Amino acid sequence: MRAVVIGAGLIGLTTALFLRRHGAEVVVVDRADGPGAETSFANGGLLTPSMADPWNAPGILGKMLRWIGHESAPVLLRPHALPALGAWGIAFLRQSRPQRFRENLLRNVRLANYSLSVMAGLRDEYEFAYDGACSGSLKLLRDTVALEQATAMAESLVSHGVRFQSLDRAATVALEPALAPVADEVAGSLFFPDDESGDAHRFCCAVAEVLRRLGVTLRFGLEVESLRKQGGRMTGVVTAQGVLEADVYVVAAGSYSTQLLRPLGLRLPVRPAKGYSITLPVEGLQQRPRLPVVDDALHAVVVPLGHRLRVAGTAEFAGFDRTLRPQRIDNLRYLLRQTYPEIAASLDAAPVQAWTGLRPMSADGVPLIGVTSIGSLFLNTGHGPLGWTLAAGSAKALADKIMGQPPGFDIGEYSPARFAHFRI
Ligand SMILES: Cc1cc2nc3c(=O)[nH]c(=O)nc-3n(C[C@H](O)[C@H](O)[C@H](O)COP(=O)(O)OP(=O)(O)OC[C@H]3O[C@@H](n4cnc5c(N)ncnc54)[C@H](O)[C@@H]3O)c2cc1C
Repeated sequence: MRAVVIGAGLIGLTTALFLRRHGAEVVVVDRADGPGAETSFANGGLLTPSMADPWNAPGILGKMLRWIGHESAPVLLRPHALPALGAWGIAFLRQSRPQRFRENLLRNVRLANYSLSVMAGLRDEYEFAYDGACSGSLKLLRDTVALEQATAMAESLVSHGVRFQSLDRAATVALEPALAPVADEVAGSLFFPDDESGDAHRFCCAVAEVLRRLGVTLRFGLEVESLRKQGGRMTGVVTAQGVLEADVYVVAAGSYSTQLLRPLGLRLPVRPAKGYSITLPVEGLQQRPRLPVVDDALHAVVVPLGHRLRVAGTAEFAGFDRTLRPQRIDNLRYLLRQTYPEIAASLDAAPVQAWTGLRPMSADGVPLIGVTSIGSLFLNTGHGPLGWTLAAGSAKALADKIMGQPPGFDIGEYSPARFAHFRI
């Protein structure tokens, strides 16, 4: 079996790994110069079944309308981006009805739990170096109403395998002493012991290294110009350096998957949601944070990654614009000050690596994994804010399916066919 995988981010690389492990001859194509160069480059670094909720939660429309024009809003809709959202936007809002939201949340939780078990296997086997940590995460709540809501949500997931502990102010600071300076502003926290963290880009580089060793061909700096089909079947991937032919094709091109599929008549319900991160060196600091901290209200996280601290988050519907807007970067600096004022002060003059990336958001907040209406054309995309969390599980499950192996996980409910009305 020959396979071409388009995209060398978290999703494409892990898919290539499992296809290869099942014996496929694999070529990975990416227009970037190396692995994990786009959305998988400097994300929040969290693998969190605890945060598997789609962003189109009940009430999202009201919030987004209120936030229009507010540069400090956690989710910002730029009016110029509205026309391109079209049918996707309507579907996104429809899926925010309470029952749909809950079903979509649980689909993500199931895949996230599976994904973490697959990650554990990969770690054991390949000893990847990626600043990985299995120390859990701490969701910080600054008022009692938010704490109650977050606790109710967490409780509703316990029977689905998400463990948590509810901590009062003192217990929160005991677990993460670096939070002591803001103790008075914290109502409490939720600790999720099974969450993980790690640097997605380092992980991508490590997987790419393994792929090379296993004989996978990695073609970087090569743009896929179009996909070629004949008589309802894919016949090749057109690049400036010729046509790549295979038995199966997997599109894992993140937010750009939509553009690749459109000429084939497939209207992929995936749109870009821009996010930002800053990464700061914390090597010389006396007290460093131990645990990843999640600030739900700001859709943002502060995550230790080896000798660095990453602050990431916020979402902007702004099309494919990847301009680094200073105000959005300031929001992350503000969050750091709100969480670790002393650390933020001592890092004032430190070099900051600012970054922006486009989350591939599906209309229902659940990834699209499986075959399309065109035989031999598969998708593994639309992982939105959860691509790191869901990568290993999505990849293994899809590779099992393609290669006819006994499935470790049923991907039926992630099938692109649920969007048949988008001609997928
Ligand atoms: C600010 C931010 C914070 C985040 N935090 C987290 C987090 O804490 N936890 C989590 O689970 N997820 C997080 N995410 C989401 C996660 O990073 C993404 O879901 C994930 O990186 C998507 O991976 P991907 O492989 O689908 O896409 P990408 O990493 O974007 O890979 C797609 C690849 O396809 C290539 N490509 C595209 N078009 C073409 C073409 N025509 N020809 C050739 N190559 C092409 C691109 O060059 C790219 O390398 C975050 C995202 C952002 C933006």
